[in-house]
Amino acid sequence: MTTPTRDATTSELLSPTRLQEAAAQLRDRTPEEILAWTLERFPRRTAVTVSFGGPGVALAYMAAQIEPSTPIVFLDTGFLFPETYALRDELVKRYALNLVEYKPLTDPGPLYETDTDGCCAIRKVEPMQRALGDFDAWVSGVRRDQGPTRAKTEVIEHHLVNGRPLAKVYPLAYWTRGQIWGYLLDKGIPYNPLLDQGYSSLGCWPCTRATRAGEDERAGRWSGSGKTECGLHTFTISSTPEGLP
Ligand code: SF4
Repeated sequence: MTTPTRDATTSELLSPTRLQEAAAQLRDRTPEEILAWTLERFPRRTAVTVSFGGPGVALAYMAAQIEPSTPIVFLDTGFLFPETYALRDELVKRYALNLVEYKPLTDPGPLYETDTDGCCAIRKVEPMQRALGDFDAWVSGVRRDQGPTRAKTEVIEHHLVNGRPLAKVYPLAYWTRGQIWGYLLDKGIPYNPLLDQGYSSLGCWPCTRATRAGEDERAGRWSGSGKTECGLHTFTISSTPEGLP
């Protein structure tokens, strides 16, 4: 895909100081306002990633309402649930999403059976790193209430990826799961039917189980292995690791 090159104004906007100021100003704004701010500051260089596995599909809807041409980046690992692919197709058609898919460069087979970190690196992290070459701002649905590893997420963070500055934007950071469900139901946005069958977070089928009452939202991911993140949200380097004041 073709994206405009970064100009001096954009480079200035991507400084840690400017992004921290923006985060402080936008923290209490609605997700739509945070998205609109991002799409205005980084036109055609903002990607919204959506997995079609959780209630974060609200982000794709919001972005399409604000700017229909917004690239909706989807990482197809090859191991997603059939329901996830079906929802992708339904939402793309219903909301005319500008879907941009990235797939692994190689097929490591069932590597998840012996090396989940290696499998995620090939099927998720490398494709995302490749995708980010086209963008300055990466919007995703990470929320504080998803678990301890995400409890300090800010609405906008300055990160480095391969030495390059990147604005990571989390419009839903301060929303609860209940707020997103309220939004989906209010707008009539279709969601993954597995969420009604005990799955509270959906990834690849070999590494996902339904969760039980009282468990963290992401407890069903790589259950029993000690692994909690696929690496997608940890391969960039944050300049504000302790969160903002
Ligand atoms: S979630 Fe499982 S199957 Fe999917 S990329 Fe990671 S290890 Fe592989």
